[in-house]
Amino acid sequence: MTMPIAPILMTPSYRFGAATPWGGDGLRRVFHKDIPDDRTGESLEVSAIPGLESRDDTGRTLTELIGEYGERLTGKGFDKPFPLLLKLLDARDTLSVQVHPDNAYAARAEGKLGKTEAWHILAAQPGAELVYGVKPGSTKEALLRASEAGQGVEALLRRVKVQPGETYYIPAGTVHAIGKGILLYEIQQSSDVTYRFYDWGRLDQAGKPRELHIRKAVDVTNVDFHPDAAREREIAPGRFQLLAEEYFSLQRFQDFEGRLEPDPRRFAFLTAVRDCRVAWADGELTIPGGRTALLPADGYALTLRASAALMSYPTV
Ligand code: ZN
Repeated sequence: MTMPIAPILMTPSYRFGAATPWGGDGLRRVFHKDIPDDRTGESLEVSAIPGLESRDDTGRTLTELIGEYGERLTGKGFDKPFPLLLKLLDARDTLSVQVHPDNAYAARAEGKLGKTEAWHILAAQPGAELVYGVKPGSTKEALLRASEAGQGVEALLRRVKVQPGETYYIPAGTVHAIGKGILLYEIQQSSDVTYRFYDWGRLDQAGKPRELHIRKAVDVTNVDFHPDAAREREIAPGRFQLLAEEYFSLQRFQDFEGRLEPDPRRFAFLTAVRDCRVAWADGELTIPGGRTALLPADGYALTLRASAALMSYPTV
């Protein structure tokens, strides 16, 4: 008989420096991460993106782990391509305004997966805000005209002030930008197809603006989606469902102590916001704040003790 697979504590890779000019040192300040420099925008906590893979504590990449365990790790059909990507993101400065295509458009235009994502706010300076969709009544024509005129698009963007603990669902087609002073958890389809609408008139170190993709951005934008922050639902004492959407689901644990059963159909990511502890038949693991364990589909039943933790998984 094969034994279940124990939780796997993952080590992230980072995007930093010129790749994330908007990044800061928040991942070190808040989570004591060993970031490569003071402009580190993203830690890719569980990633199968080539060149930006996360690893287990012996240095094996996620792709190598999937090669070894296959669907026992991922659940049926989730081994290739691995469907989700989990990041922590620190915005010292505001990111560009962007939008992602859905699967159908991305397949047609780029030969890739589309991208739906969600954000859970971990920390925010007072007054910090997101761009979250366009203002009601904005049309594609208006977006196109404003974008081509430069600055004009700012007037059409819907801005929301954020608080730690809030969750925002960003289906493909939603115009979005993370504002300065926000540290967040981002769960998304594992894709890198981004159409940039607007970059606040900024220039890079060479004095050039970053490339925009206005036609495609307007093409894929859903101007009729005007969502609010997600509403959570307590499903067990200390356990809250934040999202249950097409590609992924998200839960939150607060002062929770109890069982966490594996689901043989899919893996899960368990992220400690503050240090938490999982125990199983013959083992235990402390997950330090800011770190993530990959919980295999063919995993043990766990006992979880968490004052603050997040869990995401593909919706099955
Ligand atoms: Zn995005």
